[in-house]
Amino acid sequence: MKYNLAVIEGDGIGPEIVRSAIRVLEQVAPGKFNYQPVIAGGRSIDLHGVPLTDEALATCKNSDSVLLGAVGGPKWDTLPGHLRPERALLGIRKELGLFANIRPARLYPVLKDACPLRRETAEKGFDMVIVRELTGGIYYGERGRKQDSEGNTIAFDTETYNQTEIDRIAKVAFELAGKRRKKVCSVDKANVLESSRLWRERVHAVAKDYPDIQLSDMLVDNAAMQLVKNPAQFDVIVTANMFGDILSDEASQLTGSIGLLPSASLSSGRCGMYEPIHGSAPDIAGKGIANPIATIVSVAMMLRYAFAMEAEAARIEQAIDKTLQRGCRTVDILDNDTQPLGTIAITDAIIAALA
Ligand code: NAD
Repeated sequence: MKYNLAVIEGDGIGPEIVRSAIRVLEQVAPGKFNYQPVIAGGRSIDLHGVPLTDEALATCKNSDSVLLGAVGGPKWDTLPGHLRPERALLGIRKELGLFANIRPARLYPVLKDACPLRRETAEKGFDMVIVRELTGGIYYGERGRKQDSEGNTIAFDTETYNQTEIDRIAKVAFELAGKRRKKVCSVDKANVLESSRLWRERVHAVAKDYPDIQLSDMLVDNAAMQLVKNPAQFDVIVTANMFGDILSDEASQLTGSIGLLPSASLSSGRCGMYEPIHGSAPDIAGKGIANPIATIVSVAMMLRYAFAMEAEAARIEQAIDKTLQRGCRTVDILDNDTQPLGTIAITDAIIAALA
């Protein structure tokens, strides 16, 4: 059986890194995928006048998964909001119901010098996954402006969660933890916010179905501190949209380079979107020096989560470890005296390490 993979190369370095990732994918799962090219983002604006056509969206919807490079760039920066390349991603997230954003943050032991934390903390390493609720909370709640009786302008945004939204994201976190070190830390602000109190209640209710998972709660301010103090304590963190937005960026910076970090956005069905966390890096586009590792690890996540191909996913991750241990570096993670490798050369090295 072949799976259909919608492939959005996108803009900037997108085509370079996605092509690398597909070379690796073909190496570990030869002939298992049909690739459906999808034009979205800036290229779609140039060709069709909109960031995402109905046809492109339909291809994504009818696929088993979506692999994305990145979209955007200075060429389209002055367009009005609804015509910006990034709109394509919002459209796909909404239409595919991608409510769970999964962001692993792992410090590769050989890259510990790139970690901005104290040496003894970096030496312990860390390997965590942040599960962020992606389609609810304050970013989607009621907002507006009004005047009070004295003519003062008031602006408001509303944090709203319902039981169903919390239950489904909690399930994603517990399922994920079951495949890892079996620990979930639920992050909220239950000492102040009513929405967080419902969050905590529901996470504990869902936890009853996962007796082998150890659940803890942490207030978000403490979580921000603990990430810096002792990141090794975390396995899976589950949290609301805005807290996850902030904490996942904090965690990603602890790993050293944005060029290493993958992400997945999942729906209740199998179809998800897999992409590096970085953007289209227009400053280095076309130079052949982009680090493809984040996209290659995104493919490993796809194999694991969408297709239950754990062995293939692990092979990719081990090949990346081996390549880094051999001292191979792209320019963004250069920490030794060797000549940095370009996108194609480091992909060759990863493929060689798969053998
Ligand atoms: P960026 O992540 O593209 O780049 C930030 C810095 O990191 C740059 O110096 C870049 O060269 C470097 N970098 C990023 N990825 C790299 C890689 N794989 N290898 C080596 N170096 C890498 O962020 P930005 O410059 O703020 O945004 C550029 C464009 O990307 C903007 O149009 C933005 O809107 C868009 N963007 C898209 C996505 C997405 O498609 N999901 C996400 C973020 C930003």
